Amino acid sequence: MIKLYGAPVVNRILNDINDKLKYLTKNNLIPKLATIRLGENTDDVLYEKSIIKNFNNVGIKTDIYVLPINTKQNTLEKLIKKLNNDETIHGILIFNSLPKYIDESQIKKVIKEQKDVDSISYNNIAKLFIGKKPTFIPCTVAAVIELLDYYNIDVEGKKITIIGRSEIVGKPLSIMLLNKDATVTICHSKTINLIEECQKADILISSVGKANLITDKYINKDQVIIDIGINYVDGKVCGDVAFNSVKDKIKMITPVPGGIGAITTMILIKNTVFNAYNLNVNTKENVSNNFIN
Ligand code: NAP
Repeated sequence: MIKLYGAPVVNRILNDINDKLKYLTKNNLIPKLATIRLGENTDDVLYEKSIIKNFNNVGIKTDIYVLPINTKQNTLEKLIKKLNNDETIHGILIFNSLPKYIDESQIKKVIKEQKDVDSISYNNIAKLFIGKKPTFIPCTVAAVIELLDYYNIDVEGKKITIIGRSEIVGKPLSIMLLNKDATVTICHSKTINLIEECQKADILISSVGKANLITDKYINKDQVIIDIGINYVDGKVCGDVAFNSVKDKIKMITPVPGGIGAITTMILIKNTVFNAYNLNVNTKENVSNNFIN
């Protein structure tokens, strides 16, 4: 079994952005990401910490906005609009777990497409669905595509089963892979025979958030597994796949930690840097971004 580590993919992306980052830094145009979190959701807090650390490591600034969980729609929209118009901000990330009373569809309209570095806006998503080039694709989706590309794993004609249909991972990833000529099956909590749907896949991708969901019953010996899940068991991070159960019975797997998660944060860095470059230096050119043909 081969482990598909994220680190070399991260290094390749870092290499790709290096010239632009140096240029921006030299000209005192430091890229800056603004993040918005409502409340104290643990996953959001941990992701925020990782963003601050990783952005700091490459010399990119972050503005961290933490609002109370009962923040009004109007206040949140006002903040997003302010950041949309702030020329020193090159990307806006709104953490996933917004309270139920917030009208997310409205938020997706308010965030400016060009600063929407994790691709939640209608324009970005719509472009992906009709096979046009979006300004950005969701960072986790881009991370999976970068990993497949780095390890020369061709998807054309392959059977790919994705478990999870969230708007930020499962759905856009399925469209992206479909656009790349894979035969995609999407599973979810109501899927009748999950084991069978997983067993038949050449590539199995799990984005559920349940530790040990995927055991050796779900797999086949030629399978590539991409584990997107992030779970905490006894204080340790693990994915959706019961690693010890499958490790001797599959072809390749992304480890957790050390797989997709690290690449996702690096894609966020890349998007912020490219945006800073395009907004400050390259305004006349088409925005170059994380879209991978
Ligand atoms: P989400 O919105 O909670 O979606 C979870 C999906 O899993 C839903 O579609 C749900 O089905 C499905 N599901 C739940 N239980 C299931 C079961 N027993 N069998 C089959 N499907 C089941 O989650 P998400 O935002 O996509 O995130 C999923 C996981 O990925 C989390 O652990 C998250 O932390 C992680 N994540 C990692 C990264 C990274 O960079 N590595 C980035 C984003 C997310 P229904 O639709 O029917 O409810």
